Amino acid sequence: MLKIEHIGIAVKDFSKAIPFYEKLLNTPCYKTETVSSEQVNTAFFRQGESKIELLESTDPDGVIARFIEKRGEGMHHIAFEVADIHAEMARLKAEGLHFLSDLPKQGADNKLVCFLHPKDTGGVLVELCQERGNEKLPMGGLPIADGGGH
Ligand code: ZN
Repeated sequence: MLKIEHIGIAVKDFSKAIPFYEKLLNTPCYKTETVSSEQVNTAFFRQGESKIELLESTDPDGVIARFIEKRGEGMHHIAFEVADIHAEMARLKAEGLHFLSDLPKQGADNKLVCFLHPKDTGGVLVELCQERGNEKLPMGGLPIADGGGH
């Protein structure tokens, strides 16, 4: 793992949360992006070499809406940047950990992402992410095929 890339925070309403985080962090939101496959809007703030990612549901039945219903607004996940997401997934699977999906998916902010099962991580939702363009796999349609077992 290279660093904490971002911390994901579930919020109900961007129109309130974005101005609040702009004040708190004293930096403008530099990007918003909708990830329709996850029914979520994202908003990003830079803070040193890490980021804050706000997550707002686009659907009352989306994962973020359900998260907020259960636990309220607040910290949703920690994302670690990795150099090779497939290698890191293989390493952690060999350690007996489970992922919410078998293959990385296209996430916000030009990233390939995958999530560890929170049962394995003491209730903390952990995301691995890799900047797209760094991967050795061909670009194109998703889902991206696994590079194989080497
Ligand atoms: Zn994230």
